[in-house]
Amino acid sequence: VLGAEAVEAMTSRFDAAGYFQSTLPESIDLLRRLVEVNSFTANEAGVRRNAEIVEEMFEGFRARREGEHLVLTRPGSRRVVLISHLDTVYAPDDGFAWREEGPRIYGPGVADIKGGTVVMWRALLALRQFAPDAFEGLGWTLLFNASEERGSAGFAELARREAAGAEACLAYEPGYPANTLVVARKGSARFTLRVRGRSAHSGSRHEEGANAIVELAGKILKIAALTDYARGITTNVGVARGGTVVNAVPESAEALIDLRAKDPDSFEAGKREIRAICREAEVRSASDGFPCALELEDHHDYTPMVRNAGTDALFELARGVDPTVEPQERGGSGDVCHVWREAPTLDGLGPVGDDCHCTGREYVLRDTLASRALLSYGLFRDVFLSVRNSSSLSRF
Ligand SMILES: [Zn+2]
Repeated sequence: VLGAEAVEAMTSRFDAAGYFQSTLPESIDLLRRLVEVNSFTANEAGVRRNAEIVEEMFEGFRARREGEHLVLTRPGSRRVVLISHLDTVYAPDDGFAWREEGPRIYGPGVADIKGGTVVMWRALLALRQFAPDAFEGLGWTLLFNASEERGSAGFAELARREAAGAEACLAYEPGYPANTLVVARKGSARFTLRVRGRSAHSGSRHEEGANAIVELAGKILKIAALTDYARGITTNVGVARGGTVVNAVPESAEALIDLRAKDPDSFEAGKREIRAICREAEVRSASDGFPCALELEDHHDYTPMVRNAGTDALFELARGVDPTVEPQERGGSGDVCHVWREAPTLDGLGPVGDDCHCTGREYVLRDTLASRALLSYGLFRDVFLSVRNSSSLSRF
């Protein structure tokens, strides 16, 4: 058991707030370097270049690639897993460039999530320098998803494997719009529903047509009706298209469907209900009963992250470092959805910013690149102390 004196020595060895403030210009320079390499998910060369810079940043970590994803490690029996991603939603020709205005820094990925990567880097650097017992006493696994914005089944698998048995799993999505940490996230599932009917001249042979749009419209209404705010489940048909000309019965139509839910049971029930609705077509041609055909494509999904004891324990440690942090349950899904069952998990540790995914508007509050690095530094240190003092952070 580590005595109070040792803890005291470890925490007061240096002026933490002063350190993070005085190193802020260097952190900002590094953020700018990351931001100026476009790493739109589909820009594979840019994503790779970004991985190289990140690998360079974390000198002293062993680097390996898992597919296009980057994994950096330092071995140790009590492991902490840190999660970020390499990609952004901004295409190379987007025109959104680095811009500093007062307390804000704007740029593609400054908040989501390159600022988070810089916070993680600065906190680890400080830990290695000022609390080497904690840095050396823990094993580190840093995971950088190359295609987070598109959703990556391969990364989900990798993250689950690496998180299993870890002491803590911390993700660096931004805190927003204030000093928040993410303790829960909705799950999300996406589907593409394709309808194939039979075309016919709308004037002379209408009865031979099986109208794919009419079929799709019926399904859309049923899917929309699954929304139940009391159950915490929503569906959104975000895209619908079909047909070619007004004087032909349309042969094909499709819709993109998004399902969100707060708890895993409603999430699974929602998926079952969507599949059931899309099992059978209802529209047939009048002349010979030719039926529409349905195809439902199931895309990669994120199970809900529900609030749990492991997350709460980590949040309390974080609040011990910064008493002003607030817990937040967020509507968007994230990679933590894949890992929270494997290890105590907390998200939103990146800098405070907002308007993620908005061209010209995404920003971080410059000072929070320092305050959030201090938060992570303190959290790493306290995870180390609790792991050393007792067994593990409480599991649910
Ligand atoms: Zn992100």
